[in-house]
Amino acid sequence: MKIDYSNIKRKLESCRCREHGKSPKVTVAGDKLSIDCCCDKFRTELTKKAGDLIAEETKKAIMSAFK
Ligand SMILES: [Zn+2]
Repeated sequence: MKIDYSNIKRKLESCRCREHGKSPKVTVAGDKLSIDCCCDKFRTELTKKAGDLIAEETKKAIMSAFK
């Protein structure tokens, strides 16, 4: 099963911190994402979003495997 992490990276990097107006820097290493951003609050938000995006991509990968 192949998950498109570059897609997840792109989506996360398009987010902006509501407090600081900054975009995060996301690094993909294998199947791990590391998020570099301005504050802990934003990091918590991004980590949650990353979880949702990974779940979504996993679902897509499973669906396409059964096609
Ligand atoms: Zn911030």
